[in-house]
Amino acid sequence: MKKHNFYAGPSILSQYTIKNTADAILDFAGTGLSILEVSHRSKEFQAVIDEASALVKELLEVPEGYSVLWLGGGASMQFCMVPYNLLVKKAAYLETGTWAVNAIKEARLFGEVDVVASSKDANFTYIPKNYVVPADVDYFHYTSNNTIYGTEIRKDPDVPVRMVCDMSSDIFSRPIDVSKYDLIYAGAQKNLAPAGVTIVIVKDDALGKVDRQIPTMLDYRTHINKGSMFNTPPVLPIYSALMTLRHYKELGGVAALEKRDLEKAAKLYDAIDGSRMFVGTVTDVADRSIMNVCFVMRPEYKELEKSFVDFAATKGIVGIKGHRSVGGFRASLYNALPMESVDVLINAMDEFQAKH
Ligand SMILES: *Cc1c(COP(=O)(O)O)cnc(C)c1O
Repeated sequence: MKKHNFYAGPSILSQYTIKNTADAILDFAGTGLSILEVSHRSKEFQAVIDEASALVKELLEVPEGYSVLWLGGGASMQFCMVPYNLLVKKAAYLETGTWAVNAIKEARLFGEVDVVASSKDANFTYIPKNYVVPADVDYFHYTSNNTIYGTEIRKDPDVPVRMVCDMSSDIFSRPIDVSKYDLIYAGAQKNLAPAGVTIVIVKDDALGKVDRQIPTMLDYRTHINKGSMFNTPPVLPIYSALMTLRHYKELGGVAALEKRDLEKAAKLYDAIDGSRMFVGTVTDVADRSIMNVCFVMRPEYKELEKSFVDFAATKGIVGIKGHRSVGGFRASLYNALPMESVDVLINAMDEFQAKH
């Protein structure tokens, strides 16, 4: 049976990425060797990382003066690397979910942290508005898409300071004004590649301002100076990322991807809003994520949640169980998910509702 993959991460990749990665595992770039067994310093792999970095710059229109890095350690490693390298005295953070909480915890190890607003009071089901970012902070950090709770900030905020953003689960789903940021990071396993690599886009002259000693591996300058090859980079995920980036370019770039993503999300949210059984957990329409759609069953149907997951599985629908801190369902609609899968999910919801 055809599967419809709604996992939140690691998550669906395009067949283009998976097939080309499989080919390279058998024979990489005509070398007669697997990509799993070649030196990261071979000219063939150098070409891979160079093209991948160039495509990130092209697709996101990264201005001059920024470097693109491919690092290990996941987005979670960036929670400490960011303040290690950028927090001189004080930073502002927006608390919109578990990942933001984790980032704040690490930043506090390095300096003063001003949590400018939080939506913790309502289990992170909305994006705080009208908060003030002080002009005297070193940077303002936010999470653009809250993967667990299904909220998203889709417009680059207007604040009086330079920004840092965790874009792990919505990078390449909209155009970004990179010039407003000192640093953007994204774990690859949501919208780009298998787990194991994190993209960092960093403004070169934002670095070198802190006085503290930074361990070599945690210093962005190490990786800038060595083109992400100070040590062995995650070769296979970078190869897959290149395949995805080529595919994104073929599809028309991030503006075209955004259009498709908006259509998919609108269709599913409409189905949820129009149903008597299901209800979205994010009530402010403006805050709803187009990447992770979170919903539950209305109180009178609550005990049917488990059986809907089982019913959906009979239609090939995989990965719709909500995160344990929200419950219910979460349908992740990353770039690689086709509209067909959204239609199958909506049909399953309709059919289940008709039966009960
Ligand atoms: C998944 C996720 C993370 C954690 O990523 P790891 O690579 O597992 O460390 C951080 N932030 C966001 C927004 C995420 O979606």
